[in-house]
Amino acid sequence: MKLHEYQAKALFRENGILCPPDKAVDTAEEALQVAEEMGMPVVIKAMVHSGGRGKAGGVKVLSDISEVKETAENILQLRIQDLPVRKVMIAPAVNIETEVYLSILLDRSTRSVIYVGCKDGGVEIEETAKTNPEKILKLQCSTDQLKNPDDARLTEFASNLFDGESQVQETVEMMKKLGALFLATDASMIEINPLITDNKGTVIALDAKMMLDDNALFRHPELAELRDMDSEDQDELDASEKGLAFIRLDGNVGCMVNGAGLAMATMDTIKHFGGNPANFLDVGGSSNPQKVVEAFKLILKDPNITAILINIFGGITRCDDIANGLLESLKILDVPVPIVIRLVGTNEEEGRALLVGTDLITAHTLEEGATKVAELGGKS
Ligand code: GDP
Ligand code: MN
Repeated sequence: MKLHEYQAKALFRENGILCPPDKAVDTAEEALQVAEEMGMPVVIKAMVHSGGRGKAGGVKVLSDISEVKETAENILQLRIQDLPVRKVMIAPAVNIETEVYLSILLDRSTRSVIYVGCKDGGVEIEETAKTNPEKILKLQCSTDQLKNPDDARLTEFASNLFDGESQVQETVEMMKKLGALFLATDASMIEINPLITDNKGTVIALDAKMMLDDNALFRHPELAELRDMDSEDQDELDASEKGLAFIRLDGNVGCMVNGAGLAMATMDTIKHFGGNPANFLDVGGSSNPQKVVEAFKLILKDPNITAILINIFGGITRCDDIANGLLESLKILDVPVPIVIRLVGTNEEEGRALLVGTDLITAHTLEEGATKVAELGGKS
């Protein structure tokens, strides 16, 4: 789950991480009111779960109060990376002396938490990562090292970001607080870009992006409440309400599988035989024909689908229940693409018998199913 900048900054303040004050509002009128109270200059920022707001026209520094209302109105009408802007955040504008990049995140390749830093902060960091990867610094930390930070290690890291001694010291303190906040909230990423020094040389977090681990949200009901439903994929939310685990991907082969591990293996196998999965979909371990109908509806919502692979390894899931769900789906839904099905395990004979006379293409192994669906779906 992603937090908006104003939500992340509220957590920053609670944890002693320095950032400018701000207020998020829904309308241009409120934006004007807030700017009048704060005094000019102000910065107005689009609250969307996407980076690159600055480049998309979603961040404006204003010195003239007469521009506030219209600017806020314009930003509220933007779509940034296809996300609507429902709120803007107003903050006193800061005079930037230097901009660097600082984040802390879960790094899957080293299976540890790392701090990432770069002296060239600001809006071009992705570019720098591509063209000058050696400029991106990483500091690996165990959970113990986050709990009991080693000043010398952090100081060495921070001195790559700033030249001044007091700036390095402030950054070290901020890194400790970020580490503590990261652990306390079960975050997977906290990013400050830019981390700046102002004209007094004070180190300030000027932007804040935070991602929390969905699977740990049950431990943080107060954070779970911060979820912005407007920014979530509606289909993925609907799916979880219906007991399906669904993640949209950008391929063209729809997948319906029982069990998360088998779903991943299925996607890998489709890829291996030249196809491209359009989704991850785990219909779960239970036997419920209605779930199959709901799963079909989700898959068919995607206009890119050119073929579907159903891979069921019946254990607790009964193949005849799946077959009944399929028959029901084919009765009530218009399925305009070929369906390949591999149905093995509990009650497979009964399941197969039910499907005789339909247009479904059967496969006996996953390899066979994946090969067929990759061919039918058109390799990509
Ligand atoms: P992002 O593009 O989504 O990462 O949004 P940011 O909040 O990082 O803003 C983009 C850029 O706008 C920053 O890198 C800054 O250069 C600039 N900016 C943001 N806030 C201020 C501010 O208070 N004062 C000044 N002068 N520039 C700012
Ligand atoms: Mn930024």
